[in-house]
Amino acid sequence: MAKERIGLMGGAFNPIHERHLAIAACALAEARLSRIIFLPTGNPPHKREGLADAEHRFEMTRLATLGEPRFAVSRIELDRTGVIYTVDTLQLLRQQLPDADFFYIIGEDTLLDLPHWRTPDRVFELCAFLVCRRSTWDASDHPTVEELVARGAKLQYLSLPPLDVSATDIRKRLAAGETPPEVPPQVMEYIRIMGLYGVPARPEGAAEMYPRLRLALSDRRLLHSLLVAATARDLARIHGQDQDACELAGLMHDCAKCMPLQTLQRIARDRRLLLDKETLANENLLHGPVGAEIAENEYGVCSPNILSAIRCHTTGRVGMLPTDMILFLADKIEPSRRSYPGLEEVRALAGQSLVEATLRSMRSTRQYVSRQKAPLHPMTQRVITWLERLPQTKS
Ligand code: ATP
Repeated sequence: MAKERIGLMGGAFNPIHERHLAIAACALAEARLSRIIFLPTGNPPHKREGLADAEHRFEMTRLATLGEPRFAVSRIELDRTGVIYTVDTLQLLRQQLPDADFFYIIGEDTLLDLPHWRTPDRVFELCAFLVCRRSTWDASDHPTVEELVARGAKLQYLSLPPLDVSATDIRKRLAAGETPPEVPPQVMEYIRIMGLYGVPARPEGAAEMYPRLRLALSDRRLLHSLLVAATARDLARIHGQDQDACELAGLMHDCAKCMPLQTLQRIARDRRLLLDKETLANENLLHGPVGAEIAENEYGVCSPNILSAIRCHTTGRVGMLPTDMILFLADKIEPSRRSYPGLEEVRALAGQSLVEATLRSMRSTRQYVSRQKAPLHPMTQRVITWLERLPQTKS
């Protein structure tokens, strides 16, 4: 039987960026790998200036790779103490996966540092290398590729053209208040929540809420929540609303989404929530009002505007505030949302008019529900009628 071909991508990932992901995707295709394991380094015994804690770097790497099922993140280097050598990691992996061939993916800069690794000859026996060219690398001080090959290194160059992106430069731009486009949006959101790399920690309280939310949600739902938070923040900025409030509403809006219907119904009963029978019978609707209850009582969210936005994010409500509309829309248009008829139109409208975009989105929901031959929640129809009569509405 052919051996499984597994890519390994080691690094500090301080933070992970789009270039790391592009290199991994290229390696996957060009070396016909079945999967790639990312190996964030642990905390070194003497912490380097500017190096975020290993748990943060692990979580950012996990978040960045959630959308690709062939990417996984290992704690193998995190859970060891002292100085960690690649050769030890490779030996451990070889024991765990004896029937695999390993391909270590590295930038050319790292490759040429290889002779300084511990026992490079043993490393050459344990894995082959997939090398990505790097434009800022200076060849003069380094051994040539031929020398490495003569020592037994198996090398394959990836076709990706060099690109000047480095985590060092990204950290500098973050500290200067920029939002570097090379940072995936969910990672940027995590950086903001945790206040890493000199970015002020915001919204207030989110860093304490995050670990609990991470346990309460599936990975997919957590990714969605981070992207809704980032989108809600952008919409709040465009429309002059409270950015922190909208961002926190986005982060927390699905805090009850992964609960089974019976649990949601029990909480609704215990907390005496006044709800109609359609909402009570459907987890897709009920997680809104129950979520607001949980956000308030278990996570300590106390802003009435945030709680209102969470409560009505599934059906909307007559008299929706701008913050309600921002969460409603962010939930519908965040970048990982699967395409649906009208999505691009709602995205474009959301930057111009909250009312128009909410109306367009609700009409699209009405069409979808009618195609499914399912009943439309009466509140959604009432909200559509209310929005149609507002002076801001054009048609
Ligand atoms: P720093 O600037 O902090 O050194 P980095 O992104 O270069 O950050 P790591 O996070 O350790 O460093 O990178 C993981 C791997 O990705 C390394 O093998 C590195 O050489 C490679 N790599 C990172 N950025 C690039 C790039 N722009 N081109 C090619 N390889 C890269």
